[in-house]
Amino acid sequence: MRRPPDGGGQRRDEVDLRYISTRGRAPALGFKEALLVGLADDDGLYVPETWPTFTPDEIRAFRGLPYAEVAFRVIGAFVDGEIADDTLHAMIDEAYATFAHPAVVPLVQSGPNTWLLELFHGPTIAFKDVAMQILARLMDHVLTERGERLTIVGATSGDTGGAALEAFKACEGIDIFFMYPEGKVSDVQRRQMTTIGSANAHALAIDGTFDDCQDMVKAMFANTSFRDRVQLSAVNSINWGRVMAQTVYYFTAAASLGAPERAPTFVVPTGNFGDIFAGYVARRAGLPIERLVIATNENDILSRTLATGHYTMADVRATITPSMDIQISSNFERLLFEAVGRDAASVAELLGKLRSEGGYALPAAARDYVATVFDAGSSDQTQTRETIARVFAESGYVADPHTAVAIRVAEAHARGTAPVIVLATAHPAKFPDTVQAATGAVPALPPWATQRADNPETIERLPNEREAVEAFIAARTRVAAGGDAR
Ligand SMILES: *Cc1c(COP(=O)(O)O)cnc(C)c1O
Repeated sequence: MRRPPDGGGQRRDEVDLRYISTRGRAPALGFKEALLVGLADDDGLYVPETWPTFTPDEIRAFRGLPYAEVAFRVIGAFVDGEIADDTLHAMIDEAYATFAHPAVVPLVQSGPNTWLLELFHGPTIAFKDVAMQILARLMDHVLTERGERLTIVGATSGDTGGAALEAFKACEGIDIFFMYPEGKVSDVQRRQMTTIGSANAHALAIDGTFDDCQDMVKAMFANTSFRDRVQLSAVNSINWGRVMAQTVYYFTAAASLGAPERAPTFVVPTGNFGDIFAGYVARRAGLPIERLVIATNENDILSRTLATGHYTMADVRATITPSMDIQISSNFERLLFEAVGRDAASVAELLGKLRSEGGYALPAAARDYVATVFDAGSSDQTQTRETIARVFAESGYVADPHTAVAIRVAEAHARGTAPVIVLATAHPAKFPDTVQAATGAVPALPPWATQRADNPETIERLPNEREAVEAFIAARTRVAAGGDAR
């Protein structure tokens, strides 16, 4: 791994870190390429060929450091020299200066041996800011260096779109368009997308459902002439850069509670498995972690998989924790790859069964491996509402519904003496109706999120028609007609 100049020691490896696909049929790439392509050519996901590791001394040295400094050391190990240290450090400083709290991701004690890791002090008050803010800067840096541009298109049911538009609004080389279902996102979420006031960041209100928006994104990627014309790209949760950025807070939180001497348990409200997989990456990179606990709502495919050994799809149910209403947890493929001993052919076969038969059985050895690290539990909507109300009554702490799912699961899993850290993924003001119903009070937007309150909204209303949306995007992207040569 690569160390910062003052980290002591030499580089251990001669070869630069490469990224390989979980399905084994795409070329191995360096960090920058893996960052820009997102999904591998063979539909697999990129993972580091070898895990960089931090020694106990290096982890101990994280205690008391500013978040951005730890981020530089952790992210630096994965970038592995492809970006100059001072440039990378400056990007990281800038990314986390957008957070309102001086600790960036403060730990709040909630019980004798339990803590909440508040990941929502960024511009759009949910944890996706942590990854998006640095991802945007990394991507823009690589593109600018190459004199290239691209167009990002995405669909959002609320959280991702705001975090992405906010993070990419100042990018020189990127135009970004996010579709959302008109009338089906909350006022807070809509305003976060429509008041940005930057010429390259577009919120498109589609006359349709979230699934319609998502289908249009897929259709645009399948339309090769459009895809090449605008240099289409995505920033979904499978992008390695997002997972990488999320590993940092596992290190900072564990170190401040006594790692490497004490190994905490993390409880993570999970949808696409990106956030909790980042915890697994931290563990592979040397961080002592007791257990990683998957917390789900009624869409509990992951807890069912751990309990039964079968990954079986069911219909998605709409809940009060919309960011976890997911049936195919894309990043689970990365864990599967590890669990089958990095046998890419097995991964490809199992994922093929998911598509053709709607599910697959985890091989016994893989199931055992997963159980050595992970636990899982779920909380239904009644339990989640009850948890918000009870936590508020007991301590005055106002938890958002996603966080409450994890608090509930953490209570059910409390055992041993390991410190328990629950990831708090959204500010309660992002989900005011549910929180008000449970606590009796409307959670106020924090001051840093109200700054744009008077900005006018720019809403582009478009029909649920791919041609119309493509024409809108093609007319506005700064990618030159004919596409840049990539
Ligand atoms: C996205 C999101 C999650 C789920 O994270 P994954 O990485 O998809 O598992 C949980 N809570 C909130 C508030 C989110 O926005």
